[in-house]
Amino acid sequence: MPDTIGTLLVHSAQKHATRTALMEAGTTLTYERTLDLATACAVRLRERGIAPGDRVGILLANGWDYAVSYFGAQLAGAIVVLVNARLSAPEIAYVLADSGASLTITDDSFTDRLPAGAATVDATELVAEPGERRSPTSLPGLLRNTDDTAHLLYTSGTTGRPKGAAQTHANLLFNAGTVREQFQLTPDDRTLIVAPMFHATGINSQLIGFLSAGASCVVASAYKTADTLHTVAKQRITVFAGVATMLQLMLDRPELDSLDLSALRLFIMGGSPVPESLPKHARTKLPHTELANVWGLTEATSIVTFVRGDEYLARPWSAGRAVPGVELGIATDHDDITTNTDRVGELCVRGPIVTAGYWNKPDATAETFRDGWLHTGDIGTIDTDGYAHVLDRIKDMIIRGGENIYSLEVESVLAAHPAVADVGVVGVPDRIFGERVRAVLVLDSGYTLTATELHEYASQHLADYKVPAEFVFVTELPRNPSGKLLKRSLTQLPTAHDAT
Ligand code: ATP
Repeated sequence: MPDTIGTLLVHSAQKHATRTALMEAGTTLTYERTLDLATACAVRLRERGIAPGDRVGILLANGWDYAVSYFGAQLAGAIVVLVNARLSAPEIAYVLADSGASLTITDDSFTDRLPAGAATVDATELVAEPGERRSPTSLPGLLRNTDDTAHLLYTSGTTGRPKGAAQTHANLLFNAGTVREQFQLTPDDRTLIVAPMFHATGINSQLIGFLSAGASCVVASAYKTADTLHTVAKQRITVFAGVATMLQLMLDRPELDSLDLSALRLFIMGGSPVPESLPKHARTKLPHTELANVWGLTEATSIVTFVRGDEYLARPWSAGRAVPGVELGIATDHDDITTNTDRVGELCVRGPIVTAGYWNKPDATAETFRDGWLHTGDIGTIDTDGYAHVLDRIKDMIIRGGENIYSLEVESVLAAHPAVADVGVVGVPDRIFGERVRAVLVLDSGYTLTATELHEYASQHLADYKVPAEFVFVTELPRNPSGKLLKRSLTQLPTAHDAT
């Protein structure tokens, strides 16, 4: 069994040498070739002085060169720093300084966002055709300890400055095992990576998870509804992973009915809340595709809970049960952890996916990782059968006149209205109640709807104190590259009560 990311690639290349590992418009790499290129990349990094444990940044858009650079840096024994390619110059400077990256693999498109004097190497040089074929066996990446940090994955910073979660080889290999088992992967499977490769879904669950199974990864530069749908059909993608918004957008496309999506056996949503009405609606439009929901977070490597198929359709409110080998609990006021089903509280996770803490941040680590339990910052419940209901992020919960309101519950109700294409609910300051509920909505084209009509609709489904006091209509909701709603910016929008 592989015990590092480097050995994982070597094992897969031995077992599946001639099968396709990576594909991107015009480029197809077998496992054998991926390993050859990654080995050459590792040798070049070693020649540039990279030693085991050195931090090596990757600042690239999604592509096969990202994957090869990543495995090359792993084989060189580096701790890879996955830099969010959408960050501004000061944010990139912060991540490189925080991680202590001694070299960054990048390309021309990032030159103006890199800090002056940063040591960089162009990815095209590293992934270029090797002069001679080298064996990876003497590379230091194969000798790393399984509990060493393999890479730093920075949280997206939706709730503050990004923090680098130190994900160990053991964390990543365990998550890859979860991917193989829960997604029931075979070497014939093929996924499309539209999630950023600097984020847990793209790198941990798709690239590493699928390559650990001998399956193929088709890499796309970004998500674009029409292009993505066509690629899913043309490349006969079997497993798609994305946020719920992507599925909603796909279901609205007229070509959905004419495209051959018969290969698509599993559509996994995760990374952000899934409206309760979505799985049923999707089932009618994609009858051959099983739907699944994953709840997870960077600090827990990637996947914590999972639910799919009929099991999910029967509980559309649930993000699933803890995957085998992982424990889920609720923190009590006294910091004990319980699985008591009556309790609403902070969801906590224990097991081999809990990361080694935040790089360089002992205080934040001590606050979040306590007695082996990861305190997730999400509030929820666990039912008698172990199914988790994620109610909200603690930081997004609205407290109106002393009553707790879960923004996700209100979002779920509004999302079920046929005219609503997208919705975010936040609390804004209120002189009398402390906070009041604001809903920010995107309407489907062709619909007009007034705040009064929406208010009436919400009143039929929600207790009065949960009904939004404000409805703001916008053309698009602000989301980060992984599709996560940027709730803080919703609180800053000016109020406007009616659709125009
Ligand atoms: P930061 O911590 O800097 O704000 P981030 O939390 O956005 O960054 P991630 O670790 O990717 O970065 O986000 C994990 C969070 O996403 C979870 O804690 C949860 O709030 C939300 N989430 C993920 N999957 C689901 C899901 N299936 N249902 C509901 N919420 C989800």
